[in-house]
Amino acid sequence: MKKPKWFLKCIEFVLPTRKTLVVEGDSPPNILPYRNLVLAREGGEDWAVGFMCPCGCGKKLEIMLIQEVKPHWKLMVDHSNRPTLHPSVWLKTGCQSHFWLRNGRVIWC
Ligand SMILES: [Zn+2]
Repeated sequence: MKKPKWFLKCIEFVLPTRKTLVVEGDSPPNILPYRNLVLAREGGEDWAVGFMCPCGCGKKLEIMLIQEVKPHWKLMVDHSNRPTLHPSVWLKTGCQSHFWLRNGRVIWC
């Protein structure tokens, strides 16, 4: 299932940018869209963001956004609903993908 980096890079720039969908709750749903991100928001607070690993391995990623949890990430969503995550995402197990998410696009490291 592992695709070469050049292939992933090409796909990312051919397909439309990823968007952010907001759901009510403290965690993203079990079934996630193919490309878009799902932001779990409860009580006006952003809790976590879920999305499928962009390498196509089928792994669901759940990125924590609350500051009390370590590690946590910062999610910024622009006026076109495009997500930016900081810092980069680095999976230490499985596919070991390492990428940035900027303005709705995955940038592979
Ligand atoms: Zn993966």
